[in-house]
Amino acid sequence: MERTKYGKRFQGKVAIVTASTLGIGFSIAERLGLEGASVVISSRKQKNVDEAAGKLRAKGIEVLAVVCHVSNAQQRKNLIDKTLQKYGKIDVVVSNAAVHPSVDPILQTQESILDKLWEINVKSTILLLKDAAPHLKKGSSVVLIASLVAYNPPPTMAMYGVTKTAVLGLTKALASEMGPNTRVNCVVPGIVPTHFVALYTSNDATREELERKALLGRLGTTEDMAAVTAFLASDDASYITGENLVVSGGMPSRL
Ligand code: NAP
Repeated sequence: MERTKYGKRFQGKVAIVTASTLGIGFSIAERLGLEGASVVISSRKQKNVDEAAGKLRAKGIEVLAVVCHVSNAQQRKNLIDKTLQKYGKIDVVVSNAAVHPSVDPILQTQESILDKLWEINVKSTILLLKDAAPHLKKGSSVVLIASLVAYNPPPTMAMYGVTKTAVLGLTKALASEMGPNTRVNCVVPGIVPTHFVALYTSNDATREELERKALLGRLGTTEDMAAVTAFLASDDASYITGENLVVSGGMPSRL
């Protein structure tokens, strides 16, 4: 068992994290697990799910690993069913999966790509929560993952940004619908060098330009995002719901 500098806010809790075999989702699962949660990790590929589960177990974390492409109805249902079979309850759901398949301007984006963006970035969260909701009891918590570009979608991330704007709205609407038993909040990451944004961060000049935009002079880490997700999911945030929390090192966002 790895000694941890963290508390145990999730002892006895069960947390589902989607798209959690790599990047931000993996770090969220790791953080919740180190704080005592039984974590249910998932992604599209069995190999990735198995590898990630091995890494988490090596840190003493209790893990259930399930293949779940978030836009596959059967796999979403299986994710919930397997969680309930193994742990009997769900305390936390973190909906983290997203795609950014095109850098085209919105009006030049193919219809199939528009559908995919809506399907993965917005609709699958709704449908997963529809399956999870009957099992979420008083004190449960949902965390969605948006993006800083939601506030002002830039040219190469325009339609992706708009789907993340929808996630901000979804947070408000679901907080109203799922309260008072379930809190719903949203983490709004700035730039975190993962595969997802390699197009931007693998180029030294672009990366330095992005770093300069952050008041803290650096890009985010997956652990930065995990820490804030864990806060929002925990009882430390028990009087917070319907909020979008920007975690961007001070990059320009909104008032
Ligand atoms: P990432 O490092 O590319 O992680 C991708 C993870 O998602 C992998 O585990 C992958 O595993 C899984 N995945 C991909 N498509 C999936 C699907 N359809 N269903 C289930 N799992 C899927 O991405 P990330 O940077 O951590 O991004 C995570 C979230 O943060 C996203 O919502 C993204 O929009 C948001 N975000 C990221 C940044 C950033 O700078 N990185 C900034 C703002 C917001 P498989 O290949 O096995 O499926």
